[in-house]
Amino acid sequence: MTERIFQAEDSSKDEESLRPTKFDDFIGQRDILENLKVFIEACKKRGNSLDHVLLSGPPGLGKTTLAGIIAGELGSNLTITSAQVISKGADLARFLTLLNEKDMLFIDEIHSLSRNLEEILYPAMEDYKIDLVLGEGITAQSVQIPLKNYTLVGATTRNGMISEPLKNRFGIQLRLDYYTDEEMKQIVSRSATILNLNIEESACLEIGRRSRKTPRIANHLLRRVRDFADVKNDGFVSIEICKIALERLGVDELGLDNTDRKILECMIDRYKGGPVGLKSIAVAVVS
Ligand code: ADP
Repeated sequence: MTERIFQAEDSSKDEESLRPTKFDDFIGQRDILENLKVFIEACKKRGNSLDHVLLSGPPGLGKTTLAGIIAGELGSNLTITSAQVISKGADLARFLTLLNEKDMLFIDEIHSLSRNLEEILYPAMEDYKIDLVLGEGITAQSVQIPLKNYTLVGATTRNGMISEPLKNRFGIQLRLDYYTDEEMKQIVSRSATILNLNIEESACLEIGRRSRKTPRIANHLLRRVRDFADVKNDGFVSIEICKIALERLGVDELGLDNTDRKILECMIDRYKGGPVGLKSIAVAVVS
């Protein structure tokens, strides 16, 4: 059995406590933040709702967090959902019709919306209305429902999979990038302060460096390192206990875990450097 500590879900309460709620708490992504501040100020000045926003980038980099910060800055209510749980037009219509003036709807993994649902979104984004067909066959009736001036925030880890017509309807498109080692250190340090940890600066850097430039992973690792420090070092997160903990967790200097190493070994040894398909790797690694 291989172990993936990165995917263990920490309690959502813990996760929420570490989530930045203001621009000042959000570390890195400077260009994106500066632009967003301008867009937000401009729409506040004009008294408009913010244009629809598309946030793209790998998981755990801060897309949901940013959506929350934007809503907070605008004093808007934020509804969070995922395309993966919206299967019918009626589901999407329910989310949209419940929105009030200047509310925000966050749809995660928006690239996985079906084509039918995308068709509902087009007029909902452009003209603030939805066209629904009720019933079937000759009794089918088309109804038009007006919507309030809301803002849609779409997030995606697969920018290339969003259809062009949908993408083009987002007036603001921002791509989050991986974080530098220094930014990761700051993120770990901030989380450690919130968790009330006694931690060495070098330990913050070490955890940050082994977190694949991804804040969510850094927060997971920090919590697990805290466990080792609590049990074996009176709660003090020294660089020594940090390295011991990371080694025990199987996270190496590059941030690779046991599964990653198995995948690489499989590609290098078993398939002599490849090429090899994903299915073959999956079979070799899991068995
Ligand atoms: P995504 O939606 O891109 O998958 P999230 O917004 O859920 O990522 O971020 C995961 C966690 O990482 C958040 O709960 C937050 O604690 C942390 N995080 C993300 N970005 C930052 C950042 N720029 N500064 C500090 N913490 C961050």
